[in-house]
Amino acid sequence: MASHISMLTATDARSHIHLVIGSNPLAAARCGQSLGAGALPILLAPETAELHYALQKRVDDGEVKWIKEVFRDEHVFTLGREDVGHVVDAVFVTSGPREPLSAHISTLCRRNRIPVNVVDAPQLCTFSLLSTHVDGPLQIGITTNGRGCKLASRIRREVAASLPPNLGAACLRLGEVRRRIQEEDHLLHMALADGDDVDDSIDQSASFNKLVTEADLDAAKNRRMRWLSQICEYWPLKRLAAITDDDVSSILKSYEDMGPAESIGNSTSNSNPIDRGRIILAGSGPGHPDLLTRTTHKAIQTADLVLADKLVPAGVLDLIPRRTPVHIARKFPGNADAAQNELQEMAIAAVREGKTVLRLKQGDPYIYGRGGEEVAYFRQHGLGDKVVVLPGVTSALSAPLFAAIPPTQRDVADQVLICTGTGKKGKPPAPPEFVASRTVVFLMALHRVEGLVGELTTSLDTEIPKPEEGSREEQPQPRRKLWPLTTPCAVVERASCPDQRVIRTTLAHVVEAVEQEGSRPPGLLVVGRACEFLNEREKGRAWSVEDGFRGLDWGDGLG
Ligand code: SAH
Repeated sequence: MASHISMLTATDARSHIHLVIGSNPLAAARCGQSLGAGALPILLAPETAELHYALQKRVDDGEVKWIKEVFRDEHVFTLGREDVGHVVDAVFVTSGPREPLSAHISTLCRRNRIPVNVVDAPQLCTFSLLSTHVDGPLQIGITTNGRGCKLASRIRREVAASLPPNLGAACLRLGEVRRRIQEEDHLLHMALADGDDVDDSIDQSASFNKLVTEADLDAAKNRRMRWLSQICEYWPLKRLAAITDDDVSSILKSYEDMGPAESIGNSTSNSNPIDRGRIILAGSGPGHPDLLTRTTHKAIQTADLVLADKLVPAGVLDLIPRRTPVHIARKFPGNADAAQNELQEMAIAAVREGKTVLRLKQGDPYIYGRGGEEVAYFRQHGLGDKVVVLPGVTSALSAPLFAAIPPTQRDVADQVLICTGTGKKGKPPAPPEFVASRTVVFLMALHRVEGLVGELTTSLDTEIPKPEEGSREEQPQPRRKLWPLTTPCAVVERASCPDQRVIRTTLAHVVEAVEQEGSRPPGLLVVGRACEFLNEREKGRAWSVEDGFRGLDWGDGLG
């Protein structure tokens, strides 16, 4: 059943006037909630009404003003604050839905856009109150959108019970750190601006001021803010809740040192920025962002600079925080090496400045990702100990999986070979030999599928050995075993992306199938009997096409 959800907001109700109509215990509770948020409740109930004792006490204490009248329309337009033309800020009706007056008040308020809440009558309310947990500045509100306030309150208690103690105090402390960082950043900028003004008149200060530029300040500010948000994001909640004044001092001290600290209590700043620099070489998986590893996801959120390959999926790039600079390789035919060099040089420069650089690659960094080359390059530049390599889900194994092809399968396939269809300088690599129990996955191959299939299924002149002298054989045997044209195969494109496509066929028809269906890169070719194990080919059809990806569609929010 489709259900509507509300827009949850937090209202600053300080000095608002809330009109509470009724005299029962609920009216007492509403007055209490109203006072808690800094509003001024006015109680409207006839003189004859017997006030709930808690309410009577609030009236006696002067917290709640009691107007001893029965409701009249004009009350909502005359009892409010002067600065909003005396219209009340909200109306709470506590007498319930069966009271005919409730519907009347609700209509009146709606017509005049005054927020109104009627007890137990969602249809008469323009807003409802949440079941709330309060701890200092921390408030947690729960609603079931009319499915029961007892249930909401149980859920709220459960949520609150799962929180570490003192979280509210931690919010206060961290809020204070944030405020002071912002304040001091502002002062530093002001100081810099003043310095600029005197540049022309005082020579010495001119050169001195050049030491700290606006860009330096921005970089330092970014680092510190990012660091603070990292603490909020990655520290275990328990540790956050236990943050002490000493912790706060060390955060602020490292702030004064102008350097990022790795963790509280360990905030000694390094003098040489390169000591802090790091290169993380990580794989981003085949396409769907949910296939990222947790560690790579964390690296994405914390890096100072992201250098991404062209194929890195858009869904993954979307996870990079907006403030993080991103550079995407300018790889196009003929520019691959230049693009690679450019990224590597950028990485080295940033590491030397003490930054954490994330080199993000598609799939797994060591499977046709030039990952090995990059590590070697960084080593040559003396940065070997700064490199961390993180694995990714390779398309070579996940694309077959998402196409329901188990690359190894008892009695069907006992080996998997991952190959490229493109060799160095455009020369085709040596084709793999036919082994009946082998599954071959060809990456970077579909643009020359015709050539590849030719190599797999026909012998090449150069491979045919000259008949030995005196050999009795008339026809020399090719040295390499050829793949039968009946071998099942599958083209898997954009695996794990919404527009994933699988073409199932045999080596005899794959060239024609790709020609007719067109290409949807990136894609790969899987060859071997395993292709048929879970997928019977339709009789009488040379190939079949499956469009779309539902591989992660098995639970809420995971599709
Ligand atoms: N390092 C990557 C491979 C890079 S080579 C990995 O481990 O997946 C690029 C080739 O990978 C493409 O030409 C294509 O053959 C294959 N490829 C990458 N993503 C793919 C995907 N989502 N679906 C199918 N093939 C893909």
